[in-house]
Amino acid sequence: QEAESALAFGAQGVGLFRTELLFLGEKQAPSLEKQILEYSRLLSAFPGKRVIVRVLDLDTDKPLPFLTLTESGKYANRGFQALLSNIEVLETQLEALAESSRRYPETELWVMAPMITNSSQAKQFVDMAKGYGLETVGVMIEVPEVCQEEVLAEILDSVDFVSIGTNDLTQYTLNLDRVNSAIALSDVRKPEVLGLIERVVSSSREASKPVGICGEAAGDPESAKLFIEYGVTSLSLSPALLPSLVRALRN
Ligand code: PEP
Ligand code: MG
Repeated sequence: QEAESALAFGAQGVGLFRTELLFLGEKQAPSLEKQILEYSRLLSAFPGKRVIVRVLDLDTDKPLPFLTLTESGKYANRGFQALLSNIEVLETQLEALAESSRRYPETELWVMAPMITNSSQAKQFVDMAKGYGLETVGVMIEVPEVCQEEVLAEILDSVDFVSIGTNDLTQYTLNLDRVNSAIALSDVRKPEVLGLIERVVSSSREASKPVGICGEAAGDPESAKLFIEYGVTSLSLSPALLPSLVRALRN
């Protein structure tokens, strides 16, 4: 629904398409056909442009009746780890995305996994997605554990790109609770968080891998200026924020 306004405001593509929207409120996982239809609609709106789709990021505060949560641990019920316990959901998503991409080859589809918590998960996701014929596969950097130099280097070895999710990275680095204690937009500029972002950006650049920012902070001029200084290759924000960010960056 936002495609039109994104294009009208000058977006060069889609930096983060959250597929949760297809799943929330459903009694069963959307079928392969339904997902092909929806992803195809999305891709058809951006010919000649790049669209980054994120596979399902389940959150325990939005449980879905058709998903089982079997793992325990800090990040177990989120993102890629939750998908591993529901592998058929991930397989259907990847199949639907690959088929949609074949139907709309003029749109450059990139696919990424949320909440990767170690380098073997990144490799596993990339291998799986490429097995379905998806060409450009990446992961989100959202937890401090994967910002450690060695882990990051291993991740960058397997992926085609990374995208920094500053909402979660801020929450998990500062030990805040995003649901119960709203995070201030400026929290991302706390030195602990900025240090991690700077490191991820410079390592990615050294590895010649695109590195984007896709949390809310990307739409905040003060933070966006810093991210650009660090060397990010893209910023992803709500279409409505685009004109004011572009204005601020020109000044
Ligand atoms: C993030 O964590 O910054 C992000 C973009 O993902 P979400 O807000 O969907 O968790
Ligand atoms: Mg996130």
